[in-house]
Amino acid sequence: MLTNQLAIHGGPKTKTTPFGTGNRFGEEEVKELIEALNQNTLFYHFGKKVNQFLEDFNNMHGVKYSVATSSGTAAIHVALGAAGVTVGDEVITSPITDQGTVIGILYQNAIPVFADLHPYSFNLDPKSIEEKITEKTKAILVVHLAGNPCDMDPIMEIAKKHNLKVIEDCAQSYLTRYKGRLVGTIGDYGCFSTNDFKHISTGDGGIVTVNSGNEQDYHRTHAFADKNYQRLDDKVSRDIHYLAPNYRMTELQGAVGIAQLRKLNWICETRHQYGEMLNSAVGVVDGLYPMDISEQDYCTYWFYMFRLNPEVLSCSNEEFSAALAAEGIPNQAGYIPKVLYVQPMFQQKQAYLNSQFPFSLSAQDYPKGLCPVAEEILNTAIRINLSEFYEQQDIEEIIAAVTKVANYYSMEKSPAESK
Ligand SMILES: *Cc1c(COP(=O)(O)O)cnc(C)c1O
Repeated sequence: MLTNQLAIHGGPKTKTTPFGTGNRFGEEEVKELIEALNQNTLFYHFGKKVNQFLEDFNNMHGVKYSVATSSGTAAIHVALGAAGVTVGDEVITSPITDQGTVIGILYQNAIPVFADLHPYSFNLDPKSIEEKITEKTKAILVVHLAGNPCDMDPIMEIAKKHNLKVIEDCAQSYLTRYKGRLVGTIGDYGCFSTNDFKHISTGDGGIVTVNSGNEQDYHRTHAFADKNYQRLDDKVSRDIHYLAPNYRMTELQGAVGIAQLRKLNWICETRHQYGEMLNSAVGVVDGLYPMDISEQDYCTYWFYMFRLNPEVLSCSNEEFSAALAAEGIPNQAGYIPKVLYVQPMFQQKQAYLNSQFPFSLSAQDYPKGLCPVAEEILNTAIRINLSEFYEQQDIEEIIAAVTKVANYYSMEKSPAESK
């Protein structure tokens, strides 16, 4: 039996030992949780845990103000509300992201506008953003995908030129650095998620940073996560001037968050190291395109994604994915199944059942081919799960398996050129 025969064809499997695992939660979280319960209140405004969580988060990020929310989706909605995004406004964002990125836009009765991406960083292309600006554009909602920062300098410049707010979706990008600066501190607001699948977990939860450092802005953001209740003003006001949801975080989540934050540096450093190993290895394999990460930036790899070159490889990304899985490496073809705008919600322009509102306020259409690079990315990408609990050997075996599969399909494509 040839050792380079694919496992999917009956050859030897590359990965035969289990991946490293570990416990995300321990005594540290238990201690904080007991303290939270002993406060005799789980309300964020009366207890100490959410406040402490935010203070620690602010210190890590060098920001003055942030607001806790019930999810990352909520964090983004709160940022949009604080930014003044309202009925009929357009918000430019990425078509390759979690749907949580666009939910708040539509709840504000604003219209998501999708700009195209860089082919290998998978992040928004500033040129495409600028092309999508109309007189209705109110904000740019950037997504730092998979721990890799967007090219923020040109984006901030475009925003300044057109007087737009910038909201950063950092749900996948804890401690990611753009030219040395932490993402989430560059735009007007930075939004984080602590759902159970992110770098750190509080079960569910989120954070919005208020980067203006302006107290009024902070109060507006805070109130937007709490039914527009003006709890921070000198004279607590119960006047309601416009609609805001209840997205409050509880003390239980805050407690877990405090303990999780202490692990965040280690989590991000480990993922960075493993991701860099994978990316440099993928970069030298014929037929594979590594992730484009600028040398000035620091990626914290929420997952690892690379692309196939169909001119070199004879397989589709689905075939590659199946072969890699058979080698013992869990992975997916693409990331989300399709770009967001091909979802029925956009195709049928129906955000609310039996209504075309707010899509009816805009001339925006969502045809196939709207963002050709983004569509091509999902058709040719392979996504590999990463964990801070993996061992060095796990990464070496992922590399061996990826290389084996790529070599097989590149030889199948051009046998004459291969040894
Ligand atoms: C997870 C995620 C969200 C939504 O966060 P939730 O806490 O699940 O609401 C938004 N944007 C991106 C890019 C995400 O990965």
